[in-house]
Amino acid sequence: MTREKYSLLDRLIIPDYDTPGGVSSGNLKFDTAKCKECGICISICPGGCLLTDRATKAGLLSGAVKGGRYGVPRVDKARKGATLCIACYDCGAACPHGAISIETHFDPKRFYKRLTQTADMTYPVKY
Ligand code: SF4
Ligand code: SF4
Repeated sequence: MTREKYSLLDRLIIPDYDTPGGVSSGNLKFDTAKCKECGICISICPGGCLLTDRATKAGLLSGAVKGGRYGVPRVDKARKGATLCIACYDCGAACPHGAISIETHFDPKRFYKRLTQTADMTYPVKY
């Protein structure tokens, strides 16, 4: 396996997902005319990053939020303007009404762009 070379500067500025400019999250568009506010997309999102004013993934899965008509979902930007949305489109596949489209794809920057994976992956080296 060929290892990426990282400079000292790279090592000092390795971003996390909250680092502004480290990652551009996915953004989705919800067609309010098509959305029936069923909450399926909120329940299915692996990142838990969809919500409405009435419903979150945790609330729907636990049964704490009931009654249907949960509102049109939006992508939560609670984390310093970033989200956990990786534009996987699970929500769009699950939506029975075709109400979701992807506006902006997940876009890793700098360090994340250079991460490599190979068929002979090994466990991370311990430092
Ligand atoms: S695209 Fe994936 S990560 Fe983003 S909101 Fe939909 S299910 Fe969640
Ligand atoms: S699954 Fe589709 S119809 Fe249901 S809340 Fe989500 S976008 Fe609206």
